[in-house]
Amino acid sequence: MGIAVSPQIHPQVAEFLEKPRQMLINGKWVNSISGKTFPTYNPATGEILAQVAEGDREDIEQAVKAARRAFDQGPWRRLTASERGRLIWKLADLLESHTEEFAYLESLDNGKPLTIARGADVPLAVDLFRYMAGWTTKIEGNTIPISVPYTPGAKYLAYTLREPVGVAGQIIPWNFPLLMAAWKLGPALASGCTVVLKPAEQTPLSALRLGELIMEAGFPEGVVNIVPGYGETAGAALAAHPKVDKIAFTGSTEVGKLIVHAATGNLKKVSLELGGKSPNVVFKDADLDSAIPGAASAIFFNQGQCCCAGSRLYVEKPIFDRVVEGVADHAKKINVGSGLDPETHMGPLVSQEQLSRVCGYLEAGFSEGATALAGGHKKGNKGYFVEPTVLVNTREDMKVVQEEIFGPVVVAMPFDDPEEILPRANDSDYGLAAAVWTRDIGKAHRMAEHLHAGTVWINCYNILDAALPFGGYKQSGWGREMGHEALNLYTQTKAICTRLS
Ligand code: NAP
Ligand code: MG
Repeated sequence: MGIAVSPQIHPQVAEFLEKPRQMLINGKWVNSISGKTFPTYNPATGEILAQVAEGDREDIEQAVKAARRAFDQGPWRRLTASERGRLIWKLADLLESHTEEFAYLESLDNGKPLTIARGADVPLAVDLFRYMAGWTTKIEGNTIPISVPYTPGAKYLAYTLREPVGVAGQIIPWNFPLLMAAWKLGPALASGCTVVLKPAEQTPLSALRLGELIMEAGFPEGVVNIVPGYGETAGAALAAHPKVDKIAFTGSTEVGKLIVHAATGNLKKVSLELGGKSPNVVFKDADLDSAIPGAASAIFFNQGQCCCAGSRLYVEKPIFDRVVEGVADHAKKINVGSGLDPETHMGPLVSQEQLSRVCGYLEAGFSEGATALAGGHKKGNKGYFVEPTVLVNTREDMKVVQEEIFGPVVVAMPFDDPEEILPRANDSDYGLAAAVWTRDIGKAHRMAEHLHAGTVWINCYNILDAALPFGGYKQSGWGREMGHEALNLYTQTKAICTRLS
């Protein structure tokens, strides 16, 4: 298939893109059973980047069989915790040594700036694997004193084990393709699960390259299976599969609800990391030299395609104009262009569909009376670019204020006092993240306590760490990824009781 590779592309990436990419099942790279492939596009140009095997129900069937076998009979369960940890650490080392290659691949497939992929996506994924590698030897149960009333005088030794849940199905989105694969694989492998991973149809490449490193690191066959394909076919088959013990999903709230329904057949465990419409609250006593660029990067980072993006900007009235004009100035200075250009601050959106969705929101905002202090339009005729946009004259009942846009569009609204802002900030079906900018430490922590969000940032934004749990209140999800809490998603407790006398 015609592959759009320019001379500046990293040579290993060019080689990777030359052949159609296969899927990883039971330690082997194979075509889809149907023989079908699908294209993945370079969002900066709209050209086809590579052809990828299109997994469907039958391929998921094979992958689940392999993962089942690897979990039930394979050598994986017989490895010591330390050996499991060393494999994960080795994967981190391998990934780190291929940072440049992964950064290129991610930039090409997703559109994001190479500088960001190199500085954030890849190192964060490496860190996550290292953090999780350290947990393998620390997944412990408890000894529990029990007081059974109906066996007076009897003595017991009771303890708990934390055991892996089994085969985990994992479905990930396109906004941080490699990092989301790491967030999913890291804790699952640390816990001793086996995995079938379905990357997003828009961005399957970095997960497939990671699969090669997984095999190179020496993971036994079938422990990690990677099946690219479409959500409605491969994804739905994985979510509904009766032999899958757990499904972990990141993506839209709408599809999250479908996943929950699909999981009811065998009542598999479910964890969800969904959307957000996160409030970013700037008080008049904030350090504006950090709050203004902070509010800009809260929304514009990753082209606004972040589940935790600070997309509702609330500013205390006396400083409203100064802050929104400051954010608009930042927006106007953002270089929008190809992710491979070192001067680029913001790349294209991931797909034509996403571009249409974001432009649709902009039109809806304007028709309801919003005005743009910066941006407001699609940019250029090639690729999926949109201008970084600051909308004012917005009201809580507008679609652009209520719904997740998932693009570089912030809605800004003034508020009068701290009492007023909490209910407004919390007035959302979502509850993924929130931020507060103030020099008053008491006010900051009172706000943090009362904001309905899984993460609250104070005087910063988008600070994510492998050790810090991340997840949503309300319709932003179930469970916490990262931190030691992520292990709860992939382990279950067994209570063991021995009568001693
Ligand atoms: P999406 O449909 O929720 O996609 C996420 C993942 O779920 C992809 O791997 C997708 O496969 C898969 N999927 C889709 N339908 C499925 C089904 N019925 N059963 C099982 N898996 C299924 O997200 P999208 O359509 O790409 O983006 C739409 C909106 O979702 C965005 O505008 C944004 O609001 C939100 N979103 C949120 C996040 C986040 O990090 N929370 C990430 C991405 C998008 P395909 O690749 O075939 O779609
Ligand atoms: Mg692509």
